[in-house]
Amino acid sequence: MKLTVIERLKLQNLLPEAGNFVTLKLIRKLRETLSFSEQEIAAIEFKNEWKCEECKTMKLNLQNPKCEKCGKYMTPAGRVNWDEVKALKVIKDVHIGKSMQALCQALVKKLSDEEALTEQTMSLYEKFVVEDEESEKC
Ligand SMILES: [Zn+2]
Repeated sequence: MKLTVIERLKLQNLLPEAGNFVTLKLIRKLRETLSFSEQEIAAIEFKNEWKCEECKTMKLNLQNPKCEKCGKYMTPAGRVNWDEVKALKVIKDVHIGKSMQALCQALVKKLSDEEALTEQTMSLYEKFVVEDEESEKC
């Protein structure tokens, strides 16, 4: 399945933290498959957002930076950033096994049922649910 940068990030966030042994092993493998290589991180200029607890300065950087004013290490502010134009060229063909396919399908279906689908997760719904239903018809 061909996935974009945003789809890979969103899918990683959707994956559950807990499960039984077998499921968790598969989830860990899928997380690894979805994660970004060093080359990809450089290609899309991926950066994390950091905040200085002292002076509240914000900064975008890949690794944990020190605050330029206070000299203290900054803490993750939770947001990530990348070059959207460059990211359009980064498409990864991800192999997703049957059981993980079923899990991902259930996760996006749940989002839809809860009316929590967004512009960014809608394409995952299309790939995991709509395309799957269409392939069953053939
Ligand atoms: Zn500071």
